[in-house]
Amino acid sequence: MRDYSHNLMPYLSEVEPDEAGPDLAGVCQRYGIAPESMIVMSRNENPYGPSPRVREILRNVPLHSYPDSSLFLESLAKYTGYPEENIIIGAGMDEIIITIARLFLGQGDRALISVPTYNVYGLAARFCGALPVHQPRLPGFAVDPNTPDGMKMIFLCSPNNPTGNLVSEETVRSIAESTEGIIYLDEAYAEFAEKSLLKLVKDYDNLVVGRTLSKAFGLAGLRLGYAVAPEWIAEQYRRIAPLFSISSLSLAAGVVSLNELEYMRQTVSKIILERERLLDSLKNANPSQGNFLFIHTREKSDLVMERLLSKGVVIRDCSSFPGSDGHCIRVTVGTPEQNERFLRAYLESE
Ligand code: PMP
Repeated sequence: MRDYSHNLMPYLSEVEPDEAGPDLAGVCQRYGIAPESMIVMSRNENPYGPSPRVREILRNVPLHSYPDSSLFLESLAKYTGYPEENIIIGAGMDEIIITIARLFLGQGDRALISVPTYNVYGLAARFCGALPVHQPRLPGFAVDPNTPDGMKMIFLCSPNNPTGNLVSEETVRSIAESTEGIIYLDEAYAEFAEKSLLKLVKDYDNLVVGRTLSKAFGLAGLRLGYAVAPEWIAEQYRRIAPLFSISSLSLAAGVVSLNELEYMRQTVSKIILERERLLDSLKNANPSQGNFLFIHTREKSDLVMERLLSKGVVIRDCSSFPGSDGHCIRVTVGTPEQNERFLRAYLESE
């Protein structure tokens, strides 16, 4: 066979692929666990799923025609309070992050990332040949408002995955006013927090706020993300984004979900109550504004994860997050029963 690999873009060799998590079939076999009794608390999913009406309407969605996003955009405009001109959509927020990076980053550019945080920002920068610049957080995982010069993009996450804390309004304003670059503020978990900074998009021409229906709306499987952006960025985004990446089924589910806000708010309230109960039961967990808790572990986190796996509980070992010290795990807040199982398994082995 001939070798054609010289055609690959050389900068892609720097890409560390995203972690898919442990091989669950292997875990079940290793520890003799029935697959249906495993509980997955590693992906910040919403265990309650979407409003039951979502399943009902999916039946009637026409499948022969290309998707039409107009009702979804209209519903997002109502939900966010911004006109459609400011709204962009994608197949999950991940697609938005990657597409926005393509607008602003190229070979040799630098993108600032306050670590530890969500790993797709670094990946998106690498996909464009740009260099992720990791900035350590201040005490309490606060973002350093002093950003180095020369950053073409600055990624912020609030509530931050995995640490759970918010970035302050003063910090975002101060960065937006001092940088020449574009800020992407990821608010994937905003509905679980007491505060959102969506209102700031009005004030700055270099600030984009990303959101998703994967978390509060329980639709991770249908891949629906959106962002509120200054009009000039939204226009540029539409020029290069794939036209039909969101399926008709997903768009229809999104419209129903955004029109059943009471259902979403109820599931979010249940999760917040459980988050606070879990926090009170754990010694070394960081207060969180998301649907997950960041826990500092006495032992190495890979050992803690393996012990929990042996008891049928999957959590996220955070040692692969740049900026993590190998003693941190992240657990998604589940149903009361799931949380009880996690607590029992975790505290037994503490
Ligand atoms: N941002 C953050 C902070 C996340 O944790 C996630 C998903 N885990 C995403 C974005 C991606 O969300 P989506 O499912 O919409 O691609």
